[in-house]
Amino acid sequence: MPSGCILGICPICKELIWEDEKPIFKDTFYHEDCLDKLPYGKDTKNIRLSLLENKIKKIEKSINKLNDKIDIIKSEIKIIKEE
Ligand SMILES: [Zn+2]
Repeated sequence: MPSGCILGICPICKELIWEDEKPIFKDTFYHEDCLDKLPYGKDTKNIRLSLLENKIKKIEKSINKLNDKIDIIKSEIKIIKEE
């Protein structure tokens, strides 16, 4: 069940957008899943580009988190080897 504030109405599915759904903002709020269904065309070009850029940012964040985990494990290994 979504919660938080209602941020608006998704122009694609016409349903409410809740804060915790982490919508994508480009002039207005969109559900991320709805943006995946956008048809190709010049009129949707900018919003599709920002969707893809947003996906890259999310992946980069995940990579950074994984690299942090690797660093922690490497330092644990180092400590164990020095025992
Ligand atoms: Zn939607």
